[in-house]
Amino acid sequence: MTKEKKAQYEDADSLREIIKNLEKKKFKLDCGHVITFGYFLGNNIIIYNGKHPKIICSLCGY
Ligand SMILES: [Zn+2]
Repeated sequence: MTKEKKAQYEDADSLREIIKNLEKKKFKLDCGHVITFGYFLGNNIIIYNGKHPKIICSLCGY
């Protein structure tokens, strides 16, 4: 990756900030399960990247 290309990427902390804004929000996922963000015993999620991302829980992803 060129230096220029590398500069386009923010680090994971930026992504963490975005996710932090979702704290305590509850969602129904594409797999039918649910997630509450910021809840330590909550489901983990997998995001299949794309124009219309598919979001499922990690249990359904494996
Ligand atoms: Zn699921």
